[in-house]
Amino acid sequence: MITIIRMIEQTIAYVLRMVAVVLNQAASVFEPSPVSGLCQSTLDRVWNWTEAEKSAAWLIPFSITVSLIFVFGMPMLFKFLSDGAPHLETVPVPSATFDPAEDRQSESFGDDDVRPQLVGPEVKPSIEATDPSTGALLGYVAAHTVDDVDKLVSKARVAQKAWASSSFDRRRRVIRVLSNYVLYEQQSLSKICSLDCGKPLQESSLMDIAASLEKFQWLISDGEEALKPSRRKVGKIVPHKVAHVEYSPVGVIAAITPWNLPINNIFNPVSAALFAGCAIVVKPSELTVWSAVHVIRVVRRALTVCGEDPELVQCLIGEGDVGSKLVKADGVDKVFFTGSTATGRKVATAAAERLRPTCLELGGKDVCIVADDADVANAVDVSIRGVFSNSGQLCIALERIYVHRKVKEEFVRRAVDIVKKMRVGVDLGAITMGTVALTRLEGLVEDAVSRGAKVLAGGKRTDLDGKGWFFEPTVIVNMKEDMRMAKEEVFGPILSIYDWEDEDTMLETVNSCTFGLGSTVCSEDKARANRLQQELEVGMCNVNDFATTAICQSLPFGGTKNSGSGRNGGIEGLHGCCKIKSTTRDRFVGFKTAFPKVLRYPVGANVAEFAYEINDLIFRGGVIGKMDNLRQLIGMTLFPSWRPRSVASG
Ligand code: NDP
Repeated sequence: MITIIRMIEQTIAYVLRMVAVVLNQAASVFEPSPVSGLCQSTLDRVWNWTEAEKSAAWLIPFSITVSLIFVFGMPMLFKFLSDGAPHLETVPVPSATFDPAEDRQSESFGDDDVRPQLVGPEVKPSIEATDPSTGALLGYVAAHTVDDVDKLVSKARVAQKAWASSSFDRRRRVIRVLSNYVLYEQQSLSKICSLDCGKPLQESSLMDIAASLEKFQWLISDGEEALKPSRRKVGKIVPHKVAHVEYSPVGVIAAITPWNLPINNIFNPVSAALFAGCAIVVKPSELTVWSAVHVIRVVRRALTVCGEDPELVQCLIGEGDVGSKLVKADGVDKVFFTGSTATGRKVATAAAERLRPTCLELGGKDVCIVADDADVANAVDVSIRGVFSNSGQLCIALERIYVHRKVKEEFVRRAVDIVKKMRVGVDLGAITMGTVALTRLEGLVEDAVSRGAKVLAGGKRTDLDGKGWFFEPTVIVNMKEDMRMAKEEVFGPILSIYDWEDEDTMLETVNSCTFGLGSTVCSEDKARANRLQQELEVGMCNVNDFATTAICQSLPFGGTKNSGSGRNGGIEGLHGCCKIKSTTRDRFVGFKTAFPKVLRYPVGANVAEFAYEINDLIFRGGVIGKMDNLRQLIGMTLFPSWRPRSVASG
């Protein structure tokens, strides 16, 4: 016994001694301060340590640090190495002068019949691709017919069966390969994107590329956590159970996408679908099939180099008719539609006939509220970015700038000053939909002017050295709610300024809009900004900024009212690619739900009274009352002659 006590004593003494050594070491950092000197002499006296210990003292923190790095760092390093993605070699980029035979050879996977491919002009049906900023021919892409739709869907379906049970490590690997490719090939990808929809390179890089990379990173770091079963509370009736929500892949997703962000609009649903264990059939807009061919090739090749089935991702090339067939095709489990409200309505109706779930990301008419206490210079910057990014061809473009009368003059002066210096082809890209859209934009301006608005900059179509479809960067003031531009989605580079004075009236007007996608509030008063943010009937809102909710990939993206339903980003977006199952299990082994005899079929006499007492016991407060309920329940269970309370009281 004495020996054991001695051993404990010695161990404690040893640990204290080591602590003293470390403390001394820490104090010596501040040398020659009086504190370290005091520490040194005190420790010397108390512990009387040897010269060898003193000189070896630095070894202690050093060895602790090395051990910590070893213990925590090695598993991380091992995980990093074992999760390392293989290299994805450069995928042949589309070009207008190409040899179809060579192109086919370069793609060593996929079924020639239905995979998306560049073709010569003689192949029919095909879609001609042109650069909207110059009108130059980019090439031709073979188009599918409605008869191909089922073939594509069934290929995806077969591939998905095996992918559904793939591990998260395998899924992460694919996304990592994609991420690496997009980062290292960002210049060629930006070029392809810019040529196909006519925007400046920086816009492709900042919007399509950056958003895709951020999405990939989020999936890699947070995707698995989002898809893990989540534990829920069981409530008062079944405390002996545990409850979970479990997520399994929904199956085959049909994604119908628009032309405005041709790369991100595809990478976004494809990466989420693959990460959730789904297959996907993408139908890109006919205006951007040229870049779509490349993006789909990249994804399919990434799957191939990871040893996965490239048929998980299919691409349907064609116009609205094939999109419409896809929505109704057997084998599609969910429809993701991004596009105009009018087409979204058609898609929702067709899907509803088959009770097929949809996620609809539709148009927007986003508001920017500039309060009288706003930092006006910042509000102007935010508004200009929100209006003119992607030439206004963004669902979350700021289309209604509501400026408080007190700061309106300064706001307008600063805005006009900047906008007049903006250059098409450099700051602003082309209008991808061409003359149809330009005529519509001019019509909107004319209507507003005829009702009292005033154009302070731009206002009409233009070109670049006689080429391309451009619209002048425009500022228009004195906007009123009865103008067409106040109600219809503009989708163009027009900064329209409305003024306001009374906050309640302004909020009522702003919220009467039929769209409700994103929004911005500019105010230096935190409480006021928060209040305005809460009052807006929209899916997303940023304070003193534009589009940050769209950049944060952890956040759901989507709107209310005519802007759609469902969410395509964040945890909610991943859950949207899943079937959701609620499960319960026994909390303790061998402890199952046991109904008293009176509740079992055939039920006993006084069963209703028994049920009343149980409800009271569980939900009514008060210990005495509960004891009385128990008394009644035991009485009814044990004694057939027991007169239940409600019977006894008549
Ligand atoms: P459209 O609605 O015209 O087209 C969107 C997609 O739907 C295209 O691929 C189109 O094919 C296809 N399509 C057309 N008709 C049908 C149909 N009957 N059934 C199934 N698919 C069909 O939109 P745009 O391409 O003109 O894109 C601009 C619109 O998209 C704007 O209103 C914008 O606000 C919205 N948008 C919304 C976003 C959001 O997240 N909320 C993001 C980006 C854009 P095809 O082009 O071949 O006809």
